[in-house]
Amino acid sequence: MRTLDTDYLVVGAGAMGMAFTDALIDHSDVHVTLVDRRHGPGGHWNDAYPFVQLHQASLFYGVASTELGGGEVQQDGPEMGLQERARRAQIQTYYDDILYRRFLGSGQVTFLPATEYRTDGSTHLVASRLSGEQAEVDVRRRVVDAAYLSPEVPATTPAPFGAAEGARVVPVGELPEVVDAPSSYVIVGSGKTATDAIVWLLGNGVDPEHIVWVRPREPWMLNRAVVQPDPAVAFGLAADTMAAAAAAASIDDMFLRLEDAGAVLRIDPDIVPTMAKTPTLGAWELDLLRTVEHVVRAGHIRSVGPGELVLEAGVVPVPSDALVVHCAASGLQNPPMVPIWGADAIRLQTSRAGFPCFNAALVGYVEATRDDDHERNRLCPPNLYANTPRQWALMQARGSRATAAFGAEPDIAEWANRCALNPARISDDQRAAPEVRAAMDRLAEHAPRGLARLEELAQEREPVR
Ligand SMILES: Cc1cc2nc3c(=O)[nH]c(=O)nc-3n(C[C@H](O)[C@H](O)[C@H](O)COP(=O)(O)OP(=O)(O)OC[C@H]3O[C@@H](n4cnc5c(N)ncnc54)[C@H](O)[C@@H]3O)c2cc1C
Repeated sequence: MRTLDTDYLVVGAGAMGMAFTDALIDHSDVHVTLVDRRHGPGGHWNDAYPFVQLHQASLFYGVASTELGGGEVQQDGPEMGLQERARRAQIQTYYDDILYRRFLGSGQVTFLPATEYRTDGSTHLVASRLSGEQAEVDVRRRVVDAAYLSPEVPATTPAPFGAAEGARVVPVGELPEVVDAPSSYVIVGSGKTATDAIVWLLGNGVDPEHIVWVRPREPWMLNRAVVQPDPAVAFGLAADTMAAAAAAASIDDMFLRLEDAGAVLRIDPDIVPTMAKTPTLGAWELDLLRTVEHVVRAGHIRSVGPGELVLEAGVVPVPSDALVVHCAASGLQNPPMVPIWGADAIRLQTSRAGFPCFNAALVGYVEATRDDDHERNRLCPPNLYANTPRQWALMQARGSRATAAFGAEPDIAEWANRCALNPARISDDQRAAPEVRAAMDRLAEHAPRGLARLEELAQEREPVR
């Protein structure tokens, strides 16, 4: 068997593996072998539905060395005044450029596409899915698991319900292939993919009356206008979060206060949501989503048959030609939080709340610039992706403490303030602006009580409804 040797073996060329590798080679003279079972970089974006867009500003996505997009503000359309958000093709082109021009051009990175990684704990094997050829990799420094938080998407995760013969079920990515104008679209899921599918259908002339939305849970979503690369907005959101937590009598009360502050949105104003993955949503999207009146709240679908949906809490009739659209993959994953620097591998996870690309770049920078794992783990403790409101409070609390830990290191603070991926990036000029100072003062006022309260709320039981 062939032997390859390298300093770092990075498993996964998705957003996390790319951001880690980019920051690592920018700050140390090492060799990286990047391996992915897919044919190219970009991970799940290769399988995403064709009309997908980042839900956040392009600037927050990608790798630290190279901005995605030009940081342009949208000049027209329903999001006029907000930052541009890249579409799938732009994201794929960006990652191709980073891999083939920057990484391979640097001579520091070898890419093994269509290659599966396996280990028995001590031996590291890579095998081509095309030729079957295997090689053992001699890793001088680290194995990096860049797939620990890899999301589940409908294109690669079967629908979590059965379909009887004659029922029409498609993953969301096949929606653009529809040719026969079904009399009803049944959108299954409560998250960003489902909202994207509905907004896309409505934008293409489908009447809201022809949409049935199976929404087992109600989601809280972040107002896109408050997640922008602008320190007044970013510190304003942090201040609102701390103020809401500080005054909150319960976890629901905290979210309702955040809603009053314009920070979070819910689709149905009469129901308090139990889901808090909190992708961003535009106000215009909310208006469109609210035009869909046929919402099925009867738990998860167990099976679909021609003309009916069998749910946990009952059977709902639908037209016999209804097209059931699978938007029900779990998306962001929540495996156990483990130290990022483990004895056997680096497991890329978030530290500050959300923003996977910034976090992976941060781990790359810290790996390159520190030499003690205990210290690295102190600076970058692992965080979770929230699913419920209580977990959201925990994610914010852990993220705040992590930001304080790594932000107290002068070199990391300087690096982070130059890194466009960092949602809290701030320059010296911006720091002096009155609206930024006002937001920072408000944050300082509410942070001590807010942080303590977030931690208490995170321990409370999820409300039973
Ligand atoms: C539809 C959608 C939109 C999103 N929009 C945003 C956004 O706007 N902003 C934002 O910050 N986040 C967003 N996210 C979240 C974020 O993009 C994703 O969490 C992130 O891209 C995931 O990247 P990843 O590298 O963790 O996983 P992946 O993209 O899944 O990459 C992991 C890679 O590892 C490879 N792999 C795994 N195991 C092996 C193995 N044994 N051998 C070889 N290869 C292996 C896989 O093939 C895969 O390519 C979005 C997520 C989704 C699903």
